[in-house]
Formats: sequence, structure tokens, C-alpha cells
Amino acid sequence: MVNFRKARERMVEVQVMGRGVHDERVLEAMLKVPRHLFVDEALRDQAYSDHPLPIAENQTISQPYIVGLMTESLELKGTEKVLEIGTGSGYQTAVLAELVGRVFSIERYPDLGYRANSILRKLGYDNVIIRVGDGSLGWPDDAPFDGIIVTAGTPTIPQPLVDQLVMGGALIVPVGDMTAQELILVRRVAEGIKKTNLGGVRFVNLVGKWGWKE
Ligand code: SAH
Repeated sequence: MVNFRKARERMVEVQVMGRGVHDERVLEAMLKVPRHLFVDEALRDQAYSDHPLPIAENQTISQPYIVGLMTESLELKGTEKVLEIGTGSGYQTAVLAELVGRVFSIERYPDLGYRANSILRKLGYDNVIIRVGDGSLGWPDDAPFDGIIVTAGTPTIPQPLVDQLVMGGALIVPVGDMTAQELILVRRVAEGIKKTNLGGVRFVNLVGKWGWKE
């Protein structure tokens, strides 16, 4: 039986901080969120390992380091309204919920959305709203957002997401082909957008109007 708290401390120290994520609030959030509760019982002992893990519907819970890197890139201070595309297990959602005012998250598969919602409720995250649908369209009713995080890979940056950012807001999104992508940080500035490449990643596909076709 793994000591989950110890495993989590080690995960944050070695995999996340050890690779250069230094935002104290992000590290604190990752120390707090019980990642093992977001995976199947049979996989709990691996929940703090240095890789993604399978969840239902052939999807994955992201590698801890990637969650740290993407979250840090948004430079969150505490009061923001953030949109997540690809709820999946709900782990990234929980990390965001620790860090900001309100989190909106969209998942394409109803069963994943319901499952994530139920665990987030159980853990007491009452600043999260989950919706089932095509997140590549964003969430126009509650836009604009201070930050948007896309946890699935797309061939191009979905324009609706850029349009739903506040001025100065940031979008982090994996852009590339179906097997490999670059993590692109898009900041909305007065002149348009500013892009920074944060390096290579491998995500499951963003399937939707502004992602890959079904
Ligand atoms: N943040 C999640 C990552 C899950 S993998 C976690 O750490 O657990 C990516 C998720 O994006 C999958 O659950 C997949 O079903 C979902 N997804 C793919 N395309 C989508 C779309 N257009 N809208 C919403 N969710 C989508």
C-alpha cells in the first residue's frame, strides 16, 4: 500500500519542481489535490508516477509535470475565471479550482464529465462548473476568461478560444498532428496575439468543430 501523501510530496519535488516549475501556488495546489482519487482504483498505486495514465473512453489523465507546466504558464494570481477544455478525470480541474476564483470545464464524453463532477463535489470544490459538449467552441455564455487551458491536441488554435480571452489573458494549447504537438502559449495583446512555444508534448485528440473531425 502506497503512502499517498508521501508519494505526492515526492512527485511535486522530483517531477514538477525538479523540472523547473517554481510557482509556489501551483506546487501547493499539486501537494493538496489527491491525484489517486482521479484514477481507477486498480491504478491508484501508479497515480503519482511520472507518466499519464489511462482513464475511461480511451482518454488519459495528464502526466503530473505537464499539469504543473501548463498551469504555471497561465500565471494565475487567485481571482481569475478560467476555462478548461477536456475535463477528463477532473484532476487538472481540481488543481485549477485550488488556484482561481471560478473554473468552467467542458468534456465531450458524458460519462467522464459526470464522473469528474461527482469526485469534485465529494472533495468540496464548489467553484467548478462542468458541462458536456464541444469545448473547441469555448463557453460563449460565460466568456471572457482570464485563462483558457486546452488538455487535448489540435491541428490549429481554435479561434473561438482566442476570442473568448480577456485582453491580456492567456490560452495554453497543444498544437500539432495526431501523435505529437507543441505546447503553445497564446497571450491576447492590443496588437493581436503573442505566441510562445513551451516545447513538445503528446496529448489525445481534441475532437470537435475547431479541432479534429470525428
Ligand atoms: N485534463 C484531463 C485530460 C484528459 S485527456 C486530465 O488530466 O484528466 C483530454 C480530454 O479531452 C478527454 O477526456 C477528451 O474526451 C476531451 N476532449 C477531446 N475533445 C474535446 C472537445 N472538443 N470538447 C471537450 N472535451 C474534449
